[in-house]
Amino acid sequence: MSSALVYLTGASSGIGQALALQYYRAGWRLALVARRPTELQAWAESEGLSADRYRIYAADVADIEQITAAGRDCIATQGLPEVVIANAGISIGIDSAIREDLDVMQRVYATNNLGMAATFQPFITPMQARGSGALVGIASVAGIRGLPGHAAYCSSKAAVISYCESLRGECRPFGVKVVTIAPGYIDTPLTRENRYRMPFLMRAEDFAERAFNAIAAGVSFRVIPWQMGVVARLLRMLPNALFDRLLVGRPRKHRQGQ
Ligand code: NDP
Repeated sequence: MSSALVYLTGASSGIGQALALQYYRAGWRLALVARRPTELQAWAESEGLSADRYRIYAADVADIEQITAAGRDCIATQGLPEVVIANAGISIGIDSAIREDLDVMQRVYATNNLGMAATFQPFITPMQARGSGALVGIASVAGIRGLPGHAAYCSSKAAVISYCESLRGECRPFGVKVVTIAPGYIDTPLTRENRYRMPFLMRAEDFAERAFNAIAAGVSFRVIPWQMGVVARLLRMLPNALFDRLLVGRPRKHRQGQ
């Protein structure tokens, strides 16, 4: 019998790579998705992954045709995964007063939101028919409250949290789990250029181990690391006036090209 299969977007970098390795070491087969298949292939070889245990799919999650085709291709060639992780995402600061930043916002939503739904789409009906599986959405603590300069990303991740909650209710009657993982600050290329302090910054490998366990346990929502879960709960409770005052003068997420 072949081993369990995980389908994972954003596998060419950071959290995605760390999750891929975590699943591989646990004996799973991998279906790896990214726009840069050559880099992904080079990485898989450098890690010594056995060629019969993984397959690479080149797709842009913001392109509905490409990413749904990748999902169908995976089902046809590797079978129906036990776990699908919609991890691909981008984080860019914006200023809504600047016309060009509306294009950036569109790209953020196309990748982080529509890209997530399109990643899941090919698997939903077959998983429901089988009566098992997990759809995992990678959200962010940034989705808990809006931060100045980070409107596109924060709102996209707030939408991820609500979207996954809706999907959870739709899938539960069929025995399919929907797991929302909200990372705090994880050391990856996405955070390396941030110009502000990142409390409880965690290694991607440590994040991947905790996420793997949370997904295996079928939790509905998990913040990793847990310390950021406490911060998130406090932030959610904070009255607006106090929250606004706390943020005055704090450095913002940089805009594209800055
Ligand atoms: P990285 O920038 O290191 O990796 C992002 C990955 O997403 C890359 O593999 C990239 O691959 C892929 N990707 C981006 N856009 C697309 C696209 N349009 N189509 C297909 N793949 C795409 O980021 P992280 O690993 O840090 O982030 C992974 C996820 O975790 C994101 O959703 C992010 O928002 C979330 N997150 C990260 C946090 C952190 O602290 N690092 C905190 C909270 C959430 P390629 O370019 O090859 O397509």
